[in-house]
Amino acid sequence: MPATHPAIIDGHNDVLLKLYRAGGLAQAGTFLTGRDGALDLPKAQAGGFGGGFFAVYVPSPMDREARDAEMTNATYDLPLPEPIDWEDALPVVLSQAAILFELERQGALCVCRSVADMRAALAAGRIAAIFHIEGAEGIDPDLHMLDVLHAAGLRSLGPVWSRNTIFGHGVPFRFPSGPDIGPGLSDHGIRLVRRCNQLGILIDLSHMNAAGFWDVARHSDKPLVATHSNAHALCPISRNLTDDQLRAIAESDGMVGLNFAVAFLRQDGRKLSDVPVETMLRHLDHMMGILGENRVGLGSDYDGAIVPEALTTVADLPVLRQAMADHGYGAALIDKLCRDNWLRVLERTWGA
Ligand SMILES: [Zn+2]
Repeated sequence: MPATHPAIIDGHNDVLLKLYRAGGLAQAGTFLTGRDGALDLPKAQAGGFGGGFFAVYVPSPMDREARDAEMTNATYDLPLPEPIDWEDALPVVLSQAAILFELERQGALCVCRSVADMRAALAAGRIAAIFHIEGAEGIDPDLHMLDVLHAAGLRSLGPVWSRNTIFGHGVPFRFPSGPDIGPGLSDHGIRLVRRCNQLGILIDLSHMNAAGFWDVARHSDKPLVATHSNAHALCPISRNLTDDQLRAIAESDGMVGLNFAVAFLRQDGRKLSDVPVETMLRHLDHMMGILGENRVGLGSDYDGAIVPEALTTVADLPVLRQAMADHGYGAALIDKLCRDNWLRVLERTWGA
């Protein structure tokens, strides 16, 4: 990676889930030495991956291969997995958070609590990690755990994954379909949004249905952010953002991270990896057409999704940067998309 390119900040990865499944804390060291996956320290250094949102996620007991196979069909409508109780979710949240802090202890990354922390980590050549939770199953109705997790470094939270919580309703994976499926935030969810605003925790809209999205838009006083979502106009899956939603994000001076997941990129919505990089550029163009050049970035979903063949791991990120240049994006715009826009919206959300 030439030194002239600033390291990439990314809106979503699931490497903590992968390490948790591989054996937890004992497997943390494989992140430093190299693991069979999309993100580790050697690949990050090779590809110029500078950090971003590290998701903690409580998996549902479900047949993932069957769901993946279903999503290769021309149409699909996956049911929402059963809700997970707080008592069952919390130990998983703590296990994955412990892996994140173990990675910091071993020197692989810095857990960043401010944009100043992120700039310092980047300047030191360390991965700048944001502690994110995808789906608030581990948060109790009184929100005490939210305060404790914030004190531990939590800076971003999705009230739901594609599953219902006491806070709201997730959007199912359905193609073709708009996101307007089911009710939005509960009263608990509205209190969660307000408390996140007070604490300075970013609220991630990426797995919310339309009603939940508009509830957050109504109740949050921070920029609207979808960390890993694409344009519904180009790929009409329930998980993507409609132009109306993109306009609301623009009005709030928020941001969207481009998801590399093929099912959210392809016009036919099929979970098949033969996707040209140009498809990603079309989503960037469409989103920038509504959001402008300052409110779009990357949200790869590495280690959590089937991605285009040319971008299998973070070591391949220079391929995307080159495709942006070939597409006519100037160096300043590429830096915005790859890093600066995330730092900008995080500063607006967390405070300077
Ligand atoms: Zn996700």
